[in-house]
Amino acid sequence: MLGRKKLLIGGEWRDAASGAVMPVINPATEEVIAEVAAGDAADLDAAVAAARAALTGPWGKMSARERGRLIWKLGERLMEQADEISRLETLHNGKPITESRHVEIPMAADCLQYYAGWADKVQGDTIPVKGNALVYTQRDPLGVVAAIVPWNFPLLIAMWKVAPALATGNTVILKPASQTPLTALALGQLAIDCGFPPGVLNVMTGSGSTLGQAIVSHPGIDKIAFTGDTSTGRGIMRSAADTLKHITLELGGKSPNIVFADADLDAAVRGATVGIFYGKGEVCAAGSRLLVDKSIKDQFISKVAERTKKMVAGDPLDPKTRLGAISSKGQLERVLNYVNIAKTEGASLVAGGSRTDIGTGKGYFMQPTVFADVTPAMTIAREEIFGPVLAAIDFVDVDEAIARANDSIYGLAAGVWTRDIKKAHYVASRLQAGTVWVNTYNVYDTAVPFGGYKQSGFGRDMSRYALDYYTQVKSVWVDLG
Ligand code: NDP
Repeated sequence: MLGRKKLLIGGEWRDAASGAVMPVINPATEEVIAEVAAGDAADLDAAVAAARAALTGPWGKMSARERGRLIWKLGERLMEQADEISRLETLHNGKPITESRHVEIPMAADCLQYYAGWADKVQGDTIPVKGNALVYTQRDPLGVVAAIVPWNFPLLIAMWKVAPALATGNTVILKPASQTPLTALALGQLAIDCGFPPGVLNVMTGSGSTLGQAIVSHPGIDKIAFTGDTSTGRGIMRSAADTLKHITLELGGKSPNIVFADADLDAAVRGATVGIFYGKGEVCAAGSRLLVDKSIKDQFISKVAERTKKMVAGDPLDPKTRLGAISSKGQLERVLNYVNIAKTEGASLVAGGSRTDIGTGKGYFMQPTVFADVTPAMTIAREEIFGPVLAAIDFVDVDEAIARANDSIYGLAAGVWTRDIKKAHYVASRLQAGTVWVNTYNVYDTAVPFGGYKQSGFGRDMSRYALDYYTQVKSVWVDLG
């Protein structure tokens, strides 16, 4: 048991004013591993007051370069503590430790250091105008930014919001998902240790329906940066209208991974499985629709099924494990329900399909699952499952591949596998998706923007593009007449 965790407000750790707590469960063992404060509107008022005070206080007065140094230091501290923080990430999420330790925590630190470099490089322009005046623009922070983040990449997605918000001079209220609050709280302590002024980074745990809703409605918050379910995003957009907040939404996906007959098929088989099974498929950009050229369909899907059957769930803390535990009981039930729907609707199960266990009789483990003979109208071809379930659909030519790929309310990511360079660029140009991977899948870099088309949301995480979503432009006119 990791004990009882408090809220970080104004540089101090506090219990929720109500005294309420929520359990944190390890999905690999079903045990309660910690309790966190269940913050609500009263605690939020205190956090907003602290965040606003920091804006006009030491943080607002700090030079951009000094801000950058502090953010860089936070990235360094995160890497110094990477073993412990990766362990926490795995304990509350169920993801393999190799993903936490060797991919996601280093990427979170990289994100901090990438934006640390931007802190003193966000500039305005001087603008020639009619008449005798000096006109220039400057980029001001928005004010208090609330980052509301999900449970699938708890710290990494938080950093996609926190790092650019801090680099551009905002203050932050970070609300992690209730299932996975531990690494956000650990980051709060690192920020204190690095010497961030009080109120610059506040970490508030509490449920989405109470604390999350209070954040969205609070008049003292200027922006919501959200990643999560599309339906939650819709609700946030509606509620944020009353106080006219800036919002960026990174939402669900049903991403197509398109395999043409001329592809390097062994590489494409690996890409198809990594595309859906990394992170147990709890990945917004998961390549959950495998679109396969009809001429190679049977051969290709049987290779994917063969590879899938070799993937065995294991103890997430074991460095050899590549498939961990589904994040919660509710999520496991939801995914298994989609498996039943797929069977009822006539899809052919070619691998997995059931709950499994790792010899302990505990934990929310599931077999990696592949369905063939899926048609575009079936539920598993249309809805985000958010689990290790691949739906294989065929196509007859390039135009049909593109049409089927774009036949979704979502547009987060897509993959294209072909040796034909002309076809690769043509298809990439026609896909309605914020990211297109050619002959690869699931690769990221902090310098590259990530975000959605259509109902996968708007705004961009990472890269210099994200800076625009955390700043506002001021035009200054100086009369020289
Ligand atoms: P949510 O979208 O509900 O959760 C994401 C974050 O939003 C969490 O911090 C949550 O808090 C918070 N939240 C929930 N309701 C509100 C609200 N009304 N106002 C403000 N914040 C709120 O996702 P779920 O965890 O409920 O998962 C549901 C489904 O969403 C999953 O099964 C999956 O399919 C999909 N999903 C998609 C993600 C993506 O990246 N595309 C990420 C996560 C989920 P709390 O945890 O306290 O509820």
